[in-house]
Amino acid sequence: IIAQKKAQDSVTYEPAIVSFTEENLAILGSLKEAIDEGQISLDYQPKVYLASGTVHGAEALIRWNHPVRGPLPPEAFMPRVEQSTLVQVITEFALEQAIAQMALWHQDGMEIPVAVNISTRNLLQPRFAEQVAGLLDHYHLNGKSLELEITEGALMMDMERTIEELLRMTELDIIISIDDFGTGYSSLQYLHRLPISLIKIDQSFVRRLPGDKGAVSIVEAAVMLAHQMGIKVIAEGVENPAIYRFLKEIGCDLAQGFLLSRPLPAEAFATWYRKCSGTFAVPAE
Ligand code: C2E
Ligand code: MG
Ligand code: MG
Ligand code: MG
Repeated sequence: IIAQKKAQDSVTYEPAIVSFTEENLAILGSLKEAIDEGQISLDYQPKVYLASGTVHGAEALIRWNHPVRGPLPPEAFMPRVEQSTLVQVITEFALEQAIAQMALWHQDGMEIPVAVNISTRNLLQPRFAEQVAGLLDHYHLNGKSLELEITEGALMMDMERTIEELLRMTELDIIISIDDFGTGYSSLQYLHRLPISLIKIDQSFVRRLPGDKGAVSIVEAAVMLAHQMGIKVIAEGVENPAIYRFLKEIGCDLAQGFLLSRPLPAEAFATWYRKCSGTFAVPAE
């Protein structure tokens, strides 16, 4: 029995995708412990309707306050985590935390949905949809309060099973969005087959607005295409009023970025939200 338990607890890695340096392995090895010891937390960043400034929801972003290395950005560990079965542990943690936080906020009258980043590996995991449904049930929340963000490139791992699992999510009314849109390579080919409500245009394009003609064309085309398919568009990485105004002008639906707020710990986020009464003051023309 102990051996069986050990086998379940053990973490399997996909070989040859990335080279695991000793340092990386050490970091991954301490991740489960880090969760138990409260080193892992979520920050929240608002998403805002461009037209009105109304807050649409918040994205939960993982943070690791490492006792020796200090605060680690997700880039320092998530790429490795996503290539191992550890991603199930992280996603479970993020979902539980975000949903529990949202339940508290809703009780306090701050009724906004929360978005959690998940990996394709999660979608291919048996009974993932049931797990999510169970969590929502436990906290008496509807599926439509939860948004799941899936990175574009990641969608390509196993298209058919991914679509199947996404459909199961949408049956629960969960909102699905494609993250980092424009950084994958076959978006147009599969976009119409995915049951998604939102695309998030990658910051690499948004940052270059409104001066860069190439970025302008790409963002305008993405907005037009998405709207024709009944999909809403959010721009990530909105850092200044000029970008905000440009996006509003071309009819992009939502914005997220440092201009509105940096990602904040839950309490600071609630303070930010109350201070602006749930509506961001749109920069003047
Ligand atoms: P993402 O989901 O595309 O998240 C957006 C990233 O852009 C966040 O970085 C956010 O802090 C940053 N950002 C937001 N506004 C601006 C801006 O105006 N300017 C700039 N320069 N950056 C901005 P962060 O928090 O470092 O997260 C990086 C990535 O790590 C995320 O990209 C996501 O792919 C991944 N990640 C974060 N949390 C989780 C998680 O719980 N699970 C999984 N699987 N991945 C996560
Ligand atoms: Mg995201
Ligand atoms: Mg993104
Ligand atoms: Mg990203």
